[in-house]
Amino acid sequence: MEPSISYRDAYARSVEARVRAVEGSDGGHLVVLDQTVFYPGGGGQPPDRGVLLRASDGRTWTVIGARRLDSEVVHELEPSDEHEPPAVGDVLTAEIEWSRRHLLMRTHTALHALCGVVWRDYAALVTGGNMEPGVGRMDFEFERLSGDLVDEIEASVNAELVAGRDVRVAVLPRDEAFAIPDLIRTKINLLPPGIEEIRTIEIVGLDLQADGGTHVANTREVGTIRVTGYESKGRINKRIRIALDLG
Ligand SMILES: [Zn+2]
Repeated sequence: MEPSISYRDAYARSVEARVRAVEGSDGGHLVVLDQTVFYPGGGGQPPDRGVLLRASDGRTWTVIGARRLDSEVVHELEPSDEHEPPAVGDVLTAEIEWSRRHLLMRTHTALHALCGVVWRDYAALVTGGNMEPGVGRMDFEFERLSGDLVDEIEASVNAELVAGRDVRVAVLPRDEAFAIPDLIRTKINLLPPGIEEIRTIEIVGLDLQADGGTHVANTREVGTIRVTGYESKGRINKRIRIALDLG
């Protein structure tokens, strides 16, 4: 069973599913479904929020988070005194909060464009990143980063985004993925040895990374970004902050 449909189809907003397990008490129940569209978080992208709906009686539960547990996704329900949790065997519709997720997909894709530009133009390695809807940051080994360079980077990233580059998802056997030189820089060698397949995200002509998150299908869907700040995290390590131009 695939843990989440989101790994294959980032645009799937809802799915009908059967409850496989319910755990917890004191209101904060955890629910496992036989399939889900919820992204469980990881790679700097926060998990989805959304709802579970039971068509048989119209009852709904708010999902405040999700996480991966082995090969399954656990949905974390909002604590509630009045509400019984759903029961094992119930048929529910699992639906993510799409506006928030789509903003995360745009933000995540913008971070890949940033990563690709900084590597292509300055050969600086990315060491980490994080995001919230509409804003993100990435850390680079980038000793000579300056205010002038930041302006250049912003312009170059926006030029790539408006160029309308396709974003492709692929799943490769581990050996094949390790043979791609571009993937080494995203620390693919840190992946646990047990993983047999590597999921890659490619912004065609710009960036290729091993990655588990959700992204838009074309960079044009991101819009444009602003670099909102940069800071030193040591002599070599620098952090660049970006925000999507919203509105
Ligand atoms: Zn990504």
